[in-house]
Amino acid sequence: MRMSKHENSDVRVPINEDSLSIQRDNEKCVLCGACRSTCKYNQGVYGRYRLEKTGDRAICIDCGQCANICPTGAICEKYDYLKLKELMKDKSYTFIFQTAPAIRVAIGEEYQLESGQNVEGKIVSALRKLGANYVFDTTFGADLTVLEEAYELICRLKKKEKIPMFTSCCPAWVKFAEIFYPELLPHLSTTKSPIAIQGTMIKTYFAKEKNIDAKKIINVAVTPCTAKKYEIKRKEMNDSGQRINDDSIYDMDFIITARELIRWLKEEKIDFLSLEDEKYDDLLASGSGAGYIFGTTGGVMEAVLRTAHYFLTGKVSNQLLNYQEVRGLEGIKEADVTIGNDKLHIAVVNGTKNVHHFLKMLKKGQIHYDFIEVMACLGGCIGGGGQPKLDSTVVDDRKQKRMEGLYQIDRKLPIRNSFENHEIQKIYQNYLQRPGSEIAHQLLHTSYESKEYMLEGETVSQ
Ligand code: SF4
Ligand code: SF4
Ligand code: SF4
Repeated sequence: MRMSKHENSDVRVPINEDSLSIQRDNEKCVLCGACRSTCKYNQGVYGRYRLEKTGDRAICIDCGQCANICPTGAICEKYDYLKLKELMKDKSYTFIFQTAPAIRVAIGEEYQLESGQNVEGKIVSALRKLGANYVFDTTFGADLTVLEEAYELICRLKKKEKIPMFTSCCPAWVKFAEIFYPELLPHLSTTKSPIAIQGTMIKTYFAKEKNIDAKKIINVAVTPCTAKKYEIKRKEMNDSGQRINDDSIYDMDFIITARELIRWLKEEKIDFLSLEDEKYDDLLASGSGAGYIFGTTGGVMEAVLRTAHYFLTGKVSNQLLNYQEVRGLEGIKEADVTIGNDKLHIAVVNGTKNVHHFLKMLKKGQIHYDFIEVMACLGGCIGGGGQPKLDSTVVDDRKQKRMEGLYQIDRKLPIRNSFENHEIQKIYQNYLQRPGSEIAHQLLHTSYESKEYMLEGETVSQ
């Protein structure tokens, strides 16, 4: 009988030692099986491959849900903050941090604040204390993602090509599609994720404006997400390097999760709650309300539809400023939305576990879909694998509060549509020209490849 190097894979989820996102300390494992159940039943991954066929490689979409559920902390994210801490001793670099939408409504939980309470001002202040030279908000990158993706959707609808279009800002969903459903890849939006876009804009536009050598910029994102650790190392994620003919430059350099940031702050004895709120730095500072709601299931759909509506009609839609049909924690949400003369049928798939079932329906072809959002984690990024852990007894209640926290920020902001963000307008005027332009394509779009070979154990890569 062939021996597997994955011990106890009949009880717990197998993890590859060279995973870019997660690791396991066997000493701490009590063989409870929670990781395997989560991977199988919540993520729809474990059980869809056989180690005997994959060359003993675990198939993993890097979502980190097994780390979030592990009761003893045996599984955790790869601690990249330790390498970053070391590198930050070298003052010849400019360290630029960005904060993902969903972390600000969850980090407070670690400090006994109510879920959903927005602590972004304290996060900015904490990052400066840790040595950040600039702090930006990923909601800005999210606004750029929205403009590019809305434009892409409209072009596809007009040409009647590659419809339905799927969102692609969740790297775990993208990897899931590349492995299990490669036939869908032409349907994925080619627009890069907000973090990747923000990273690219920092190393191109911002570097040029501030006269900083892109090679001396270290881009760090604080995220709810472990899959971003994998995403930034994809070979496609070096558009800023390509722009200046230096392949060694990647758009992003480090991803640290919300949990890593909390660990780091504790190690440095920074008293988070006593920090004064601080504001983001100028230029790529922060986004519209639409950029904030990216952090929750249904948020990307709502944000993109707001801008697509404006592109097609020249008007702001009040319905899409509070689009209840795509909100909430249900597994699959569907709606019809009228934009000008067009009626679109849309769907939001919450969690990769629901993708298999949804795609069976899609393949039957009984219902026509135009636009589909998929996020790998239940709840979207508010429920990301790198967020503060949630006890199973409070999980839905806390996710609901985190989600409401983001909608509340959106409701209160004076600018709620990505196309109304003045800094975004300026970037298009001064640098990117218009959504879908040649330079926007070079910098803000990407490509995908089938990774079906992983299931057959051929040349295996991440
Ligand atoms: S959830 Fe953690 S403790 Fe339980 S089997 Fe998995 S690794 Fe071990
Ligand atoms: S990170 Fe996600 S896909 Fe990978 S083993 Fe854990 S739960 Fe499964
Ligand atoms: S849903 Fe969000 S947190 Fe989860 S894998 Fe996707 S991008 Fe990461």
